[in-house]
Amino acid sequence: MKSVAIIGAGITGLTAAFYLKRNGIPVTVYEASGRVGGVIQSLRKDGYIAEFGPNTLLETSPKISQLVRDAGLESRRLNPDAKAEARYVVRYKRPIAMPSSPVGFLTTGLFTLKAKLAVLREPFVPPRRDGVEESIAEFVVRRFNQEFLDHAIDALVAGIYAGDPRKLSVTHAFPKLKALEDNYGSMIRGQIFGGRERKKRGEVAKDRAPKFSFDDGLQVLPDTLAKYLGDAVKLNTAVTKLTETTDGWALTLSEGRVQKHPESAPLREYEVDHSAVVYAGTAFKLAALKIESKQPINLAPFSEIRYPPVASVVLGFCREDVAHPCQGFGMLIPKVEGFKILGTIFSSSLFPNRAPSGHITVTSYIGGERYPELASLPAEKLYELTCEDLRVLLGVKGKPTFQHCVFYPRAIPQYNVGYGRYGALMTEVESKAAGLFLAGHYRDGVSLSDSIVSGCNVVDRVATFVRADTSNPQNEAVISK
Ligand SMILES: Cc1cc2nc3c(=O)[nH]c(=O)nc-3n(C[C@H](O)[C@H](O)[C@H](O)COP(=O)(O)OP(=O)(O)OC[C@H]3O[C@@H](n4cnc5c(N)ncnc54)[C@H](O)[C@@H]3O)c2cc1C
Repeated sequence: MKSVAIIGAGITGLTAAFYLKRNGIPVTVYEASGRVGGVIQSLRKDGYIAEFGPNTLLETSPKISQLVRDAGLESRRLNPDAKAEARYVVRYKRPIAMPSSPVGFLTTGLFTLKAKLAVLREPFVPPRRDGVEESIAEFVVRRFNQEFLDHAIDALVAGIYAGDPRKLSVTHAFPKLKALEDNYGSMIRGQIFGGRERKKRGEVAKDRAPKFSFDDGLQVLPDTLAKYLGDAVKLNTAVTKLTETTDGWALTLSEGRVQKHPESAPLREYEVDHSAVVYAGTAFKLAALKIESKQPINLAPFSEIRYPPVASVVLGFCREDVAHPCQGFGMLIPKVEGFKILGTIFSSSLFPNRAPSGHITVTSYIGGERYPELASLPAEKLYELTCEDLRVLLGVKGKPTFQHCVFYPRAIPQYNVGYGRYGALMTEVESKAAGLFLAGHYRDGVSLSDSIVSGCNVVDRVATFVRADTSNPQNEAVISK
């Protein structure tokens, strides 16, 4: 049996490859860069563990814990400190704890009386049923009020998407919120009554899902999956073209490191044959793929999907140099507060081994749709801007004892208003190109857990296709994915 090609060794591609191999289906994983994990990047240095991409994995589906078990990683799993549940939102230039109960909501200083009344009124706001797709900003102002958008949702959107609430689609970026309005007429009523149905489906809402990491950071997961796959993972190997053949797909590969020096060895180009292909890369690289298929396919529109740049800045400090206790998950920062950083995770309060004794470490994000031009500043400038904000917000004094940053030129896809047309195009591509499957963060949701679930789900579709295809070659025309 020819192997299934997986393009991309991020968590989506590795999860799909791992389960295909366990199902007895041979795989080959092609990764353009020199490492596995995609945007996941953990660094162990000078007694610190720094995470630059995702910091935690949310257990939103039983598939997440199943993967951890199947990968043999249960003993390396780290649950966060129970005290690390508190989340802060910045208002009046200081972090204020988010209320965790109805009484806490009524007494919090985070919102004015007007915003509190808007929340209490929300169950009586009629649902919108005219089918018009709204931005998350329009949705929140309609159901709550402007203050709730400016001081809560704007910060949340920066924390999840590094995005702009006026552009992100409530239907595509926050489908569960929209479903609460559609199914229960109100988000608050839906939160109360929808819990039972989620439980039946074995799902957990993202805000309540247990989160975790591993003893050496999240990189442990892709590294372990890649180890199981062994030689099947080909690093520094970019797929540049897909050609549909009579019995599968031929991939054109470009192998070798991209080097700027004019005398460096040229990249080696060659072709390989596969039974099927899973594309688990980014939307902009999908758009750049050349494709020759029996039915014409246009991948170019995927280049329109915006991925704003983000820089992750990890700083360590002596404990006594930070006035704030930093006990909790972290703080979200709305744009109206006027800071450069989008938010900060209290990394060493979450997990025990993130900083040496007597020190703490915090991870801040700069750029996104709010200030895209700041993300690409030189490292020294990023440290300076971050320290300036942390001095005001957390009472930091003194110099960092650890500093490291990573620049993601194209970080997170923005599921903006109108994103549905890309979803429809993905379905069309799959229906026209038998044996080509699309999975990952640009299709099934931007969180790490969404990518894992996407990687798990594509396995069933690929297995059905490959098994039907190999057991009876006549089947090709009637296989429906
Ligand atoms: C800064 C940042 C912070 C985040 N924080 C969180 C968080 O706290 N919690 C959370 O749940 N999620 C978070 N996320 C999102 C989450 O990490 C990602 O959505 C998820 O890891 C995406 O995985 P993926 O495999 O789909 O894509 P990627 O990780 O992007 O991997 C795709 C891989 O495909 C390769 N590739 C692309 N095209 C080709 C080609 N033609 N040939 C060969 N290889 C190719 C790329 O080199 C890349 O390695 C964060 C993301 C970022 C950037």
